[in-house]
Amino acid sequence: MSAAKSPEPRPSVLEIAAYIPGRAKGGSAGKQHKLSSNENPLGPSPEAREAFLSAAQSLERYPDGSATDLREAIASAYGLKADRIICGNGSDEILAMIANAYLREGDEAVFTEHAFLVYRIVTLAAGATPVVVKETDLTVDVDAILAAVTDKTRIVFLANPNNPTGSYTSINEVRRLRDSLPAGVLLVIDAAYAEYVQKNDYEAGIELVATRNDTIMTRTFSKIYGLAALRLGWAYAPEAVINTLHRVRGPFNVNAAALAAGVAALKDRAHTDRSIAHNARWLPELRERIAALGFPVAPSVGNFVLIDFSAVPGGDAGAADEFLSARGVILRRVSAYGLPQMLRMTVGDDESNEATIAALRAYRDTLNNG
Ligand SMILES: *Cc1c(COP(=O)(O)O)cnc(C)c1O
Repeated sequence: MSAAKSPEPRPSVLEIAAYIPGRAKGGSAGKQHKLSSNENPLGPSPEAREAFLSAAQSLERYPDGSATDLREAIASAYGLKADRIICGNGSDEILAMIANAYLREGDEAVFTEHAFLVYRIVTLAAGATPVVVKETDLTVDVDAILAAVTDKTRIVFLANPNNPTGSYTSINEVRRLRDSLPAGVLLVIDAAYAEYVQKNDYEAGIELVATRNDTIMTRTFSKIYGLAALRLGWAYAPEAVINTLHRVRGPFNVNAAALAAGVAALKDRAHTDRSIAHNARWLPELRERIAALGFPVAPSVGNFVLIDFSAVPGGDAGAADEFLSARGVILRRVSAYGLPQMLRMTVGDDESNEATIAALRAYRDTLNNG
């Protein structure tokens, strides 16, 4: 028999570069400082861990497919209507559900050049065409987005704050974007880092969602709540969008342990406040101390900073990444985000942050002596 022809996926699927997560291990045998995936250095609430362990008592049961307790807990924590909330196996799953439900071949989805990579993946996976828009100084340019909109545009993805740049779009600019987009274009506001932002002109977009029929906000338990391993995200959306997403959602898409841990995490407000305070203390300190070494750091409102290695003569993000990894400091390369000379560093615990600064200083010294 001749070799069988392989089954062929949609052509756009072959354009996807599979997502490469932040590395978990460096080259050294000693302590690893994993600052590559924007995880919470304080971990989850101890109560969330307890709830997770209790879930082990009834593994034979299907989870609550409608996530009622969790949606009610989210609704009460954030002042929302529970029936306008949908939960997902990570917010990544919700982004994929949105693309699957609202995009078809020939449609366009617009996002900015350094935006979260998942928007491109879910757009191509749905058979549609990504339209990538320039940023200005690592920040979303609303006018550039509007200029890219055509009669084929179905979705605009806006990461606010954005990963990996750490920049944000003011609520006035988000409103201007929304008001200027044609009717029928869905605006997806991905507010994965909203809890960290301490700016008076920032809002995650709840009011926009509540008062319109064309705007979605997605959120996650992976960052401030420290539950990345469990894969838990949610979205707040208009009624018709919620009804649509329920049609394409897997019947039991969120597992029981994640549901239980999510409810417990929301109750432990003190733990969330500690996480916010830790991050707020370190963000400016990391920026100042790393910039003082000669490596500029973009202003960030998230739980990470973006470090530029091109400003020091001889500096190179790839070489720096190898140097740091050999010392157990694992940052994130962001070439796939169009930022080949930068590394993203998650705000870690005190020890990891100090270890990173020390390793960066040692790397800088190799340049000065070389
Ligand atoms: C981390 C992150 C998410 C969260 O993804 P989950 O699937 O919920 O873990 C979403 N959007 C952005 C921009 C992120 O950085």
